[in-house]
Amino acid sequence: MSDSHGAAIFAPSNKLDLQGVASLIQKGKAKQILVMTGAGTSTSAGIPDFRSPDTGLYANLQKYNLPYPEAIFQLDFFHEKPEPFFTLAKELFPGNYKPTLTHVFFRLLHEKQKLLRVFTQNIDTLERAAGLPDEAIVEAHGSFASSKCTKCKTAVSTEDMRASIMKGKVVRCEDAICKKKTAGKGGLVKPDIVFFGEGLPDRFFQRLSDFQKADLLLVLGTSLQVQPFASLIDKVPDECPRMLINLERVGELANLSDMDGFTGRYNIGGFDFEGHSRGGKQNARDVLYEGKCDDGVLELAMACGWEVELLKLRDEVWEQWERKYKKAPSTPSSTAAVSQAEKKADSASDGPAKTDGASKPTLEKPPLSFAEQTANDLASDLAEKMGNLKMKEGQA
Ligand SMILES: [Zn+2]
Repeated sequence: MSDSHGAAIFAPSNKLDLQGVASLIQKGKAKQILVMTGAGTSTSAGIPDFRSPDTGLYANLQKYNLPYPEAIFQLDFFHEKPEPFFTLAKELFPGNYKPTLTHVFFRLLHEKQKLLRVFTQNIDTLERAAGLPDEAIVEAHGSFASSKCTKCKTAVSTEDMRASIMKGKVVRCEDAICKKKTAGKGGLVKPDIVFFGEGLPDRFFQRLSDFQKADLLLVLGTSLQVQPFASLIDKVPDECPRMLINLERVGELANLSDMDGFTGRYNIGGFDFEGHSRGGKQNARDVLYEGKCDDGVLELAMACGWEVELLKLRDEVWEQWERKYKKAPSTPSSTAAVSQAEKKADSASDGPAKTDGASKPTLEKPPLSFAEQTANDLASDLAEKMGNLKMKEGQA
């Protein structure tokens, strides 16, 4: 039975691990690598994780008198009160956040012609910012990369959106007919981010066939709680190895009591790190790396012998980003954890190792990391603007 479960892919006597995954990549056995990502890949860029209770975006927004945090991504609320969304858009708009080492790792896989596609749940476009071409990306929940009028569907260029959003404006359609139909106001323009109740982009469905082609699935920084995204991990072939890089174990197979008594098979899919459903650990095809995404990809890159290339590419991507968005040069590394891993990669590195503190923003100073600085700016800016909004509302 184990033959049909991929024993041919990796040595049956050894449980597949990070080294084993690296070996598959190096030997060219994994050359159609499919990547699934979530908020965890962007937290080291300073973008708050939507679901983390203390530093999460929702928790931050909750302080600013939204009726409930999800309202900011609801169409009805957007039409009624678009200002909070545009305030958020100003913060999240492409150019405010630098791609992370993880995003650069995807770019490296692409350059080595080993990347099939990145399916991302993130709307921050950091995959694009890392230099991945459009065709390598599926933005499952849409993104800020395109925008259109909610009334007449006229497209508005990213440049025009940026100019208006950065001035703190609510963007409205300039189309003459649209303006006429809306008493001169013009329809509200919304970035093509999937709001609650909206369908996923066509491209998402068009690319689902990628899952059958994959020979390695990397799942990074996602709690795998949002459908239909979460169930996709089971769409890859039965022998396709899957690796989860995440702060905690998620998306696991239901326990033994969920096994179907008649067929002896599990009814519900999910990761099976111990190989319970495959006759034991030696047949397990799922690998767990419990930790930060940037650390996980760096370890994987090191196991492939790519660490120098990866860090060089990261520096190039960051330099281009600085030039494009004319930001002041940043500190060499956005997270202490990566600095430590870099020390491993570059033993000649000097200077004391930074302590690996909690990832949430702190009020300690100096110095604030890029991530902390950005998160603090986001919070105080939102506080100010949401406060203003509330005042205006009160006067009305
Ligand atoms: Zn319009």
